[in-house]
Amino acid sequence: MSPPVDLSPSAYLKDHPSAGRGVFASGTIPAGTEILSVADPLICILDEAHLDSCCHYCMAEATDEVSSVSQAYRPPVKLSYCLGCRVVKYCSKACQATDWKQKAHKYECVIYKAQYPRILPVTARAILRMAKQFLSETPGSNIVGGIGALKAHSEDFAKIGGDRWEMANLTAKAAAEFSKVSKQISFEPEFLRDMYCKLLINSASVVTQTFDPIGLCLAYQSAMFNHSCDPNAVMMFDGRQLSIRSLKAISKDTEITISYIDNLASRKERKEEIKSRYFFDCSCSLCSSEVQPLESLQCPKCKGLITTNKTTCTNCGEVVPEDEVTAAIALYTSITAQRTKKNADKSIAPTLKSLKQMYGTKVLPSTFPPIPQLHRDLATLYIDEGNWKSAFLHLLTLYVKVYQNMYATPYHPVRVVGTFTLAMILIQVAVDEPEGFGERIDFTKVLYGLLTEVYGNVEKSHGGNSSFAEMVRRKMEEVKIDVGIDSNREADKWMGKGLRAIPGLEGEVAKLIKIVDEFLETLKSD
Ligand SMILES: [Zn+2]
Ligand SMILES: [Zn+2]
Ligand SMILES: [Zn+2]
Ligand SMILES: [Zn+2]
Repeated sequence: MSPPVDLSPSAYLKDHPSAGRGVFASGTIPAGTEILSVADPLICILDEAHLDSCCHYCMAEATDEVSSVSQAYRPPVKLSYCLGCRVVKYCSKACQATDWKQKAHKYECVIYKAQYPRILPVTARAILRMAKQFLSETPGSNIVGGIGALKAHSEDFAKIGGDRWEMANLTAKAAAEFSKVSKQISFEPEFLRDMYCKLLINSASVVTQTFDPIGLCLAYQSAMFNHSCDPNAVMMFDGRQLSIRSLKAISKDTEITISYIDNLASRKERKEEIKSRYFFDCSCSLCSSEVQPLESLQCPKCKGLITTNKTTCTNCGEVVPEDEVTAAIALYTSITAQRTKKNADKSIAPTLKSLKQMYGTKVLPSTFPPIPQLHRDLATLYIDEGNWKSAFLHLLTLYVKVYQNMYATPYHPVRVVGTFTLAMILIQVAVDEPEGFGERIDFTKVLYGLLTEVYGNVEKSHGGNSSFAEMVRRKMEEVKIDVGIDSNREADKWMGKGLRAIPGLEGEVAKLIKIVDEFLETLKSD
């Protein structure tokens, strides 16, 4: 069975020498182009944590659940329970009706109700949905062909055994049991286990436009894209609408790739994760390269980066003592192992301790994994606490030290979202701590500079019609009026330049860099 193909004219499907098949560019694809758009993925389902706060069909977040950062910039969304199960919620009658008829909630509702107050895990809910749609569609339809063509790797799952195989069996058995309350259709565990394996191999996290994970998505269209740790495209969501966008210009007949994993991890971690989750050895261009930019060491003398596999600074000639490198790598290994443990404590204290230990080595720069992840996690934890100043310092470190190295293009969506979040937190800091950080920064200029950077890149990063672009435009207008920039022609010339490239702002940028350097010194000295 071949899957239905509805790629844009810019891409075509071709057998791949080592990975089954892949998607290739039919002509030159400019950076920031939408390559694939799926308005209604087969499965797009909320995780347990978001059932209460998001619409079960369109995934819109209820207004009162939206973090204060983006609260003011969207039309209000009110959710009401499905009165049948009281497990899922909807933002409108239209969403409820579509979910009921087309997306099998009519079938699930009794199952959810019978289990209430217990909530089925997202994987169990997803495989029931897949199974129901697979069996109720006519053979030969897109859905049947699409699900049928997905790889399951059941033998690989069985062979590695352990937790994952046990989980596959348990989930399938439980879901088969739950499905018995339905008068419409119930399933055999083996069939559901096959669906479970297909789900795990082919699904992706549904994320908001600002990359917060909220659920699980399976679309046979996007499952055709192969993985690279240095991808030239990225998968994004706007509500339940999935899209794949180019991250750089892609030349004709080049394979279009996305990343299945956190590609900010070290090569060793990436390869292990790919092998254990997807059963292949990653041989992408980055994994095959001698040089791993993110694993560069930092020269303790001149602070320059030292390329992987070398311990002599090409800049100043300093030789980094071998025992310091060994100690740093040992620390990296133990912290990474701690973080990936099942019940890892991810609160502020242990996260901050790990970060300080890593900086304490004096040979690891801010880009070395998992330092960027630790900064990111701490920023999120501080935002949850309303500790704006600390959140700002961690986000500013990413902005000043990390983004340019990790995301080469200024319109990489993660970089754009990070810059926008930094701007939003800056507003809070300006209210709470008008004295700033020892350095008195001109909040208005820096804020407007950051926003023009976001605004100038959002067309390529998210698309001009995306809800993120809309949010950025509204915020921009608001800030212009608030700070009286409306009539400032100078400021309009800043548009899209990026904070660092705006003439006259060099002084402010230098202050921001100084704030980060001082912040990192405090982390190193404790
Ligand atoms: Zn909705
Ligand atoms: Zn219901
Ligand atoms: Zn790789
Ligand atoms: Zn040096």
